[in-house]
Amino acid sequence: MRVFEKSSKLNNVCYDIRGPVMDEANRMRDAGIDVMKLNIGNPAPFGFEAPDNLIAMMSDNLTETEGYSDSKGLMSARIAIEKYCKKKNIPNVTIDDIYTGNGVSELITMSMQGLLDYGDEVLVPAPDYPLWTASVTISGGTAVHYVCDEKAEWNPDIDDIKKKISPRTKGIVIINPNNPTGALYPKEILMEIVELARKNDLIIFADEIYDRLVMDGLEHTSIASLAPDCTVITFNGLSKSHLIAGYRVGWMSISGDKTNTKGYIEGLNLLSSMRLCSNVPAQSVIAPALEMEEETNKLLVPGGRIYEQREFIYKALNDIPGLTAVKPKAAFYIFPKIDTDKFNIKDDELFALDFLKEKHILFTHGGGFHWEKPDHFRLVYLPEIKQLEVAAARMADFLSSYKQGE
Ligand code: PLP
Repeated sequence: MRVFEKSSKLNNVCYDIRGPVMDEANRMRDAGIDVMKLNIGNPAPFGFEAPDNLIAMMSDNLTETEGYSDSKGLMSARIAIEKYCKKKNIPNVTIDDIYTGNGVSELITMSMQGLLDYGDEVLVPAPDYPLWTASVTISGGTAVHYVCDEKAEWNPDIDDIKKKISPRTKGIVIINPNNPTGALYPKEILMEIVELARKNDLIIFADEIYDRLVMDGLEHTSIASLAPDCTVITFNGLSKSHLIAGYRVGWMSISGDKTNTKGYIEGLNLLSSMRLCSNVPAQSVIAPALEMEEETNKLLVPGGRIYEQREFIYKALNDIPGLTAVKPKAAFYIFPKIDTDKFNIKDDELFALDFLKEKHILFTHGGGFHWEKPDHFRLVYLPEIKQLEVAAARMADFLSSYKQGE
């Protein structure tokens, strides 16, 4: 009998975020054990609710949005995205340069599939949002990881980027604000990256899905605004800022100089039409959503849930002997460092698994984000403070006696 294996194209795809820890969590769930899930940036299960009027608008639009749209998206959505690009000083974006997608996820994969051939390299941050590395790999390319430096507020290490550029490098991925670190990159760093892209003819892939989730009065700069002479693809969406991750709505815009990327754009147009179009009812709320900033902003200031939860988790984790964490400036993730000597940790996935089994809390080990050393993990701080208190207490208790390999 014929045995069906997964495609060999998937063999090198490393997506540890779904590995044995997740399998164990599912087993525990099936056995009726209540597991606290601090592993995924999905606001809805934690009592965050999308703005009521946004939901009402989408449901009102259902009959009008039964059919396919243009493969790049509804005109109303793309006009609103074009306006948003102008607001962010992203230069030279026309309606034709905008593609809507079933979440940013679909467009990340599409952008890599349209560009890469075997042997091509793309610079991807470490730690990364792992879909980037997976998408480069599945598209036949090689993800070359550059380091983000914890000692420098998790900013990209420019010298490391320089060392890793080769004649085969086609692009560089910048995740800003960052998942998993919560970093927000200053303009000076972005300008240095643009300079490198300019000098080496690289396309910049800017994942800015968290640009409306910035705290402490800081401002997000779109890297595309600093690079009118480069090709920059900027990714954004409503999953996080408008708490509608399940509706699957995102977009990408191609900005700057496109004279050398006509062939690539042809490829993107082909891939975009192959999937016909993205979710049309969800596209229909892009325009009103982008005019609705207040609801999100309320969460990000003192008294707001994301702000207060960040304050709590940052202090609580740093108070645990053996853990240190840089304060996140944006999004809703924190990426603490573990003192591996103190706990004899050699395997961060095992650490996550041991913690899950004993304390019934699920987080993702640093390796899931292509972080090489076994000394970090990521917590999603979306649960209310009451739950975060429980999580921090269980972590403190667990670490008071944990030693790996004993
Ligand atoms: N990019 C980053 C950095 C993310 O953290 C996520 C989701 O967590 C995505 C992209 C994908 O978002 P979506 O597909 O929901 O738009």
